[in-house]
Amino acid sequence: MRFIWGKKEFTLMIIPGANRRTVRFKLPHSSLYIVPSVILLVLIGFFVTIYFMNTHSHRTRNNMQQVFDGQERQLVDQITHKNSELEQLQANLIDLSQQANEFKLKLEEIKKIDHVIELMSETEGAKGTSKKTAAPSTQQPKGKNSDIGGSDVPVTSQDVSLLVNSTKEGLFSLVGDINALLLHLNESEAKLKEAQYVSSITPTLWPTVTHSITSGFGVRIDPFTSKPSMHTGFDLDGEMNDDVYATAAGKVVEASFDNEHGNHIIIDHTRGLQTEYMHLNKMLVKRGESVKKGQKIGLIGTTGRSTGSHLHYEVQKNGVPIDPNPYLKTDRKDEKP
Ligand SMILES: [Zn+2]
Repeated sequence: MRFIWGKKEFTLMIIPGANRRTVRFKLPHSSLYIVPSVILLVLIGFFVTIYFMNTHSHRTRNNMQQVFDGQERQLVDQITHKNSELEQLQANLIDLSQQANEFKLKLEEIKKIDHVIELMSETEGAKGTSKKTAAPSTQQPKGKNSDIGGSDVPVTSQDVSLLVNSTKEGLFSLVGDINALLLHLNESEAKLKEAQYVSSITPTLWPTVTHSITSGFGVRIDPFTSKPSMHTGFDLDGEMNDDVYATAAGKVVEASFDNEHGNHIIIDHTRGLQTEYMHLNKMLVKRGESVKKGQKIGLIGTTGRSTGSHLHYEVQKNGVPIDPNPYLKTDRKDEKP
């Protein structure tokens, strides 16, 4: 190869060998500047591309690092948050466990009260029998403000698990206890209502404020004939116009006058029991009226076959007069409204 310089151009000759044809390229002078310029531009372009790629990669790496850092911080925050939540849950669990224990103690007290109600209903049913009620509770729930102390031992997951299990078992047994207690309470309530009803229709009340009996139930000398006769009730000594009360709830089946009983009231208490109040000065109820136990029904007098102001009080069982004495247990002021 050889260069032959002309005026405005130069020739590039390529001589391959002795027996082969020479190849000539005619090139303008300007190509001497253009070709290196093109090469230079290509080189600059290459380096600029490398530079930008490098810068971009660096920026990407920084961005990724920032993203990772952010995610790491988030994770740490989340873990811290979860830890505090866990601590809160543990605290709640301990609280719940303590509450369950306190509740259990309360339940024991309620059971005792239920027992007392049961005894009360039995007592109501058989008034006069002196049954003892249950002893008051000696087991007191521990107050929340009890003094506490001790060293701070961290809670392990095993401790928490044990507490969860024991609390769960405690709550299950409590639910069972509550269900049984509710059933029992309902039965007790029904028994108590029945006992209260029986008590309301049983003539256990004194018909007058005075308890002074001038003539008892049984055989006596008749004050009019002076001969022995059966006295079918009590004669209660009272002043004229003293109050007379219904000794049990019931319905007035008689409120009238006759020469023997004077003004007299008969109250039917169902179950075969009736009470009669004789010689009244005034009757304050009418036939067919319902009366409550302890209601004022008349005033003491001396009407009919009577020698002076008194109340003849009589209790009849299935139409037969019986001794009122075993029934008379309470005063009007002692009865609950
Ligand atoms: Zn009498």
